[in-house]
Amino acid sequence: MSFFIDVIIPVPLKKLFTYSITASESDFLNPGMRVAVPFGKSKIYTGIVFRVHNQPPVAYEAKSIQQILDDAPVVNEKQLQLWKWIANYYMCTMGDVMRAALPNALILESETVILRNTVKVVDDTSLKDDEFLVYEALHHQSSLKVHDISNILDKKNVLPVIKRLIEKEVIHVEEEIYEKYKPRLVRYVKLHTNFTTEGALQELLEALSRAPKQRQVLMTLFSISATTKKPVKVSDLSKESDASTAIIKSLIEKEILEEYHIQTDRVQYSGDDNEATKLLNEYQEVALTEIKESFNKHVVTLLHGVTSSGKTEVYVKLIEDALNRGEQVLYLLPEIALTAQLITRLQNYFGEQVAVFHSKYSSHERVEVWNHVLNDTAKGKVILGARSCIFLPFKNLGLIIVDEEHEQSFKQFDPAPRYHARDTSVVLANIHKAKVLMGSATPSLESYFNATQNKYGFVEITKRYNNVLMPDIELIDIKDKFKRKLMKGHFSDRLIEEMTETLQEGHQIILFQNRRGFSPIVECNTCGHAPQCPNCDVSLTYHQYRNQLRCHYCGYQSAMATECMACGSSELDTKGFGTEQIETEVKLLFPDYKVARMDLDTTRGKYGYEKIITALEQQEIDILVGTQMLTKGLDFRNVKLVGIMNADNMLNFPDFRAHERSFQLMLQVSGRAGRTDKRGKVLIQTYNPYHNILQQVSTHDYMGMFNEQMNDRYNFKYPPVYKQIKITLKHKDYNKVDAASIWLAKSLRQVFKEHVLGPEFPPISRIRNQFHKNILVKIPKKQSLAKTKEAIIKVNNSFSSIKDFRSVKIILNVDNF
Ligand code: ADP
Ligand code: ZN
Ligand code: ZN
Repeated sequence: MSFFIDVIIPVPLKKLFTYSITASESDFLNPGMRVAVPFGKSKIYTGIVFRVHNQPPVAYEAKSIQQILDDAPVVNEKQLQLWKWIANYYMCTMGDVMRAALPNALILESETVILRNTVKVVDDTSLKDDEFLVYEALHHQSSLKVHDISNILDKKNVLPVIKRLIEKEVIHVEEEIYEKYKPRLVRYVKLHTNFTTEGALQELLEALSRAPKQRQVLMTLFSISATTKKPVKVSDLSKESDASTAIIKSLIEKEILEEYHIQTDRVQYSGDDNEATKLLNEYQEVALTEIKESFNKHVVTLLHGVTSSGKTEVYVKLIEDALNRGEQVLYLLPEIALTAQLITRLQNYFGEQVAVFHSKYSSHERVEVWNHVLNDTAKGKVILGARSCIFLPFKNLGLIIVDEEHEQSFKQFDPAPRYHARDTSVVLANIHKAKVLMGSATPSLESYFNATQNKYGFVEITKRYNNVLMPDIELIDIKDKFKRKLMKGHFSDRLIEEMTETLQEGHQIILFQNRRGFSPIVECNTCGHAPQCPNCDVSLTYHQYRNQLRCHYCGYQSAMATECMACGSSELDTKGFGTEQIETEVKLLFPDYKVARMDLDTTRGKYGYEKIITALEQQEIDILVGTQMLTKGLDFRNVKLVGIMNADNMLNFPDFRAHERSFQLMLQVSGRAGRTDKRGKVLIQTYNPYHNILQQVSTHDYMGMFNEQMNDRYNFKYPPVYKQIKITLKHKDYNKVDAASIWLAKSLRQVFKEHVLGPEFPPISRIRNQFHKNILVKIPKKQSLAKTKEAIIKVNNSFSSIKDFRSVKIILNVDNF
């Protein structure tokens, strides 16, 4: 009898590859173990055993494997079951799924770049000969590929050597530069060393007698230090001395005060004296009971709780129960909502049992979490993280929480697998016989629809915690304001008025500008030409800060032009306005207050995001201007006013979900206002105050939005009423994409008739020199999804057998966003 294994390798192959193994290997090997296998002419890959069996492949002679890499599976059967579902449902290969699912450090392949671990001091006497050769080679060359190592050692199978070197921490495999979890930086001040002698201080105080405010600040500093005998925070000094941060800033600039930062450890738990979970109020208590009842009947329950209703504390109770039953818990949330605030909150309750799985973590840390989860140790009980967490090797999963379930970032856009983590979590729960709680203040139409169909259980909290009122939302007609000359730049008189009042009361302000379509572009006043990206079908964006033009699709950049490329005129003007311009305008309008900006540019650097959040928390920022980034999961006590600079662009975005999204975005941003004592205020500037969505936002009318939008979705056959699969064709040759897509759409139409739309060029039809064309297949609820996909695959296969079209790339996106 002969023995074979089907192996998943991280290449986009439609079928699994079969390798032959010996009888003793077949005794040893189990699904989920890693093997090194040869592939193609000279490549070697890490593969995962999917199945052990006795049927030789028909089409080819099975090669034998190179090496077994594990003595126990690193991927469990339940994961393999999930992978299989993902590959089927999202129409991709198991190799695609494997690539997304396994931490890099567990995958080695010919192209993997290997680096020396420069942090660790290596005792080279502990290395075997072959290990030493690699170690030494890495002193002469900064990096090596697997096949280089093959040459150095003059043998094919080098993965075991590499694996040992990784385990000994001598080398690591390359990836982006990741950092440890970011510590929180708090600003402190002290008297500058210039004045620490008695005489100098005396002189200083005399000099300051003509600047009573500054003197006051200094005296307050002394008195705080004297009473607390601790470092003095900038925020405390500002509060106690009743001085604006601008005064403190000028004292720092004059070198009278000195600023410094202290890292305060965010992880404040210690051993087992964790904080007790909070006592729920009556609304939360009712919700909790209802959720538990709902769990008896449904796998999934949707919790619709308004912003600040205390959903998190309800989750905490459910997590506590699951832990008491000895189960693992997965807490999924969008990447940007994965804030230190939330992590600390959970760690305070559950201590070391909380592990965070984050794409910013180093590969080593991710493997560590992976192993804790795999072995169900005490440190891997509650896993907090973004969408890729669904791939962790859970053993005993009891509860999945999907917080902010409406967020589109749960769907992976590129590359395959183009999975939706929220939807996949339901399958994961079924595999583990676990329960899913989806939570949101603005549920997706999909989930709410499922609740109305009784597919999901449904629970509501309609009151904010502590009976804080919902913010008062006011719409401002800027068309009218412009006409009556009541605008200063992009600020209406109403907004300026409210801002002035808020600042005088000592509260903070958030100004929101939608990221999409608000990038400023440059236009020639003489001929109207706008500089275009040479690779994409878009205008270049102007970046004031660097005086540069950039493409947001491919990263192309050039210096800001001084004259028009088309006509040579020097009258170039910027159109559109981004956060940068708003920041500039605010600074002119409110010169005495501290303004900061939070967008991709300002948060890119080290600690960028953390610094801004901390500064806002510490009330060192009076006005924060930002994009979508600031809508998520942040709890700022002192923010009383939120201004939405322009609502129209969001609403007009060409996408069938644009209205739903605008509603969610605006209510989520509004939710940042007035989380405690004072009622918050939200001002929305728009050209179209009678737009239904804006009316619904201003009255917090989720049901109104839901009913109206569902009506549209019925009429236009969109999700959640119909399912849909988007097919994108890409090629650098315009005519080829065009011909190929017409052929494909025609063939699909023979099967699906009027349910095929397109082909159509998307609004931006050329990206990175590739032309795109889309076809949409709509699938009525009663049509079999499996049969539909089979038919698409069949058409696809005939497509790829046409020689002319072979170089056209096809992307299938199931449940596209
Ligand atoms: P949501 O997630 O619904 O936006 P949170 O769970 O963040 O709301 O709660 C809002 C605020 O109210 C938080 O600061 C939280 O600490 C507080 N809070 C919520 N529930 C309770 C409770 N039962 N006891 C004390 N404070 C609570
Ligand atoms: Zn011109
Ligand atoms: Zn470009």
